[in-house]
Amino acid sequence: MRVLVVEDDDRVARGLLTALRHAGYEVHRVATAADALRAAPADVVLLDLGLPDGDGLDVLRELRHRPGTAVITVTARGEERERVLGLRAGADDYVVKPFGTSELLARIEAVLRRTRTHRAEPESEAPVQVGALELSPTTRAVTLAGEPLSLTRKEFDLLALLAARKGEVVSRDFIVDQVWQAHWEAPSRTLDTHIAALRGKLGGHVKIETVRGVGYRLAT
Ligand code: CA
Repeated sequence: MRVLVVEDDDRVARGLLTALRHAGYEVHRVATAADALRAAPADVVLLDLGLPDGDGLDVLRELRHRPGTAVITVTARGEERERVLGLRAGADDYVVKPFGTSELLARIEAVLRRTRTHRAEPESEAPVQVGALELSPTTRAVTLAGEPLSLTRKEFDLLALLAARKGEVVSRDFIVDQVWQAHWEAPSRTLDTHIAALRGKLGGHVKIETVRGVGYRLAT
């Protein structure tokens, strides 16, 4: 498993590299946003949002389009706004400096388990069809009325979850647990933001209904 550490602080980076290598990961470190985008693909990216040459959020927006790469943002204590923006932009999880090695390793294992589960054991191998929408859990390809539909990784996970249970109400808690992290204290607006984005992309073809106080349902 490859981990890319994007961290401009040498002292912090050294500690991370030692801990991650000790835990058996193949680790590569870069110190700038530009180098982060040029780096070889990794299974997990530990992304410091405060970088000298640009906004870590821009790096995140770029990385989330790479399938199979999970992103954990790293922020300083008090930077709650950055943390929330990171989650909205598609981060899989976050850690707050200063964090302990065991916490970090647990979070890395959790996001890896999640991305591997999504890749290796989709709920069903067969493409799911809902009206004009067709979605393939194995290739993660989505078409709407025959046209390819471009979704971020989180949008795909969310839509796949609803599509696998089309016509059923799926609770907000279950969605957050499946698509984000079970331990994540989700600002519920993050889920709303992703639902709104999906609705925009689905247009009038397929409807995601809000079931007030409970969750969402993909109308059939
Ligand atoms: Ca920094």
